Amino acid sequence: MAKTWKDNDISLDPIKDQTVSVIGYGIQGDAQANNMKDSGLNVIIGLKEGGNSWKKAEADGHKVMSVADATKQGDIIHILIPDMIQGQVYKDEIGPNLSEGKALSFSHAAAIYWKWIEAPSNVDLIMVAPKGPGSKVRETYLDNFGTPAIVAVEQDFTGKSWDRTLGIAKAIGSARAGLIKTTFKEEVETDWFGEQADLCGGAASMVTNAFETLVEAGYQPEIAYFEVLHELKLIVDMIQRYGINGMWRRVSETARYGGLTRGPMVMDSANKENMKKVLTMIQDGTFNSEWISEYQKNGKDAFDKYMKQYDEHQIEKVGKDMRKMMWPDSTE
Ligand code: NDP
Ligand code: MG
Ligand code: MG
Repeated sequence: MAKTWKDNDISLDPIKDQTVSVIGYGIQGDAQANNMKDSGLNVIIGLKEGGNSWKKAEADGHKVMSVADATKQGDIIHILIPDMIQGQVYKDEIGPNLSEGKALSFSHAAAIYWKWIEAPSNVDLIMVAPKGPGSKVRETYLDNFGTPAIVAVEQDFTGKSWDRTLGIAKAIGSARAGLIKTTFKEEVETDWFGEQADLCGGAASMVTNAFETLVEAGYQPEIAYFEVLHELKLIVDMIQRYGINGMWRRVSETARYGGLTRGPMVMDSANKENMKKVLTMIQDGTFNSEWISEYQKNGKDAFDKYMKQYDEHQIEKVGKDMRKMMWPDSTE
């Protein structure tokens, strides 16, 4: 059984006199900074001058300064800017202002694990990765609950790294839901695998293949859309809340028998072999090199050509109409 913690297992005392510098005030930075401040920690915000976030963070009542100053003034430097720029911002502003005994803290371990940041040996390297988007991190906190998180210490220079890690996790509310111990390596490799094979990549491709199968067989695209895409969430919600058998118990007998016998025909051993290939490309660094070089060559255009294919696909065209019918005010 993995090592876990809940709220009552943790005290904020060991870090209550430390300053947490949250670098970035975006999806995670905004939510985590406000939760930590509401939990009583000393929080300051490091941002680039002239960016959109500076005014927002100030309007929310935070003390805002340059990344360099926030690094100088903070004890725990919690880096919540986009992963692909962490290396450069570290090189220019964080690294030169870091001193012995501080902590570099992350919500995703990629920058350290793949050495986009080469951190010195006289600081702590810690991670608190909430398993949910920033909006949920804030919403659940305000509901007196939290978003579960996985936590890790990669380098314990001070001997106090776990106090810092667990303190942050408690202050953002995650310990109310529960914390699980991991490592930087495990977090990066499983996070990337999940989003490639199952969550984002796997789900999008599965839904698209199912949609094409029905439409190519002559069924109406609107019906296909509802059947294979819209309803997926209802099933996934059941799996999340009640487990796989909990879902089987809640669908019709025909769905239960049909799904139990046909599911493995669709997602068969060849499919699993492909998943293993995807995992190997993550583990051996192939994906990391490809992504870095694409990002350096094309920036955000690296994925635009793939998204354009979806824009032109019938599933997106019909999907827009169907979503407009259900939610007239919603934006894409
Ligand atoms: P965002 O894309 O939301 O970060 C944007 C923020 O970074 C803005 O405040 C922006 O400021 C600031 N920023 C951009 N460039 C700079 C710079 N050069 N110097 C200082 N600040 C800068 O990031 P996320 O919240 O999505 O991700 C942060 C971390 O959290 C990543 O490591 C990610 O993997 C991890 N994570 C994210 C999750 C999520 O829900 N998105 C879930 C779990 C982990 P401005 O507006 O002024 O440009
Ligand atoms: Mg993930
Ligand atoms: Mg991820």
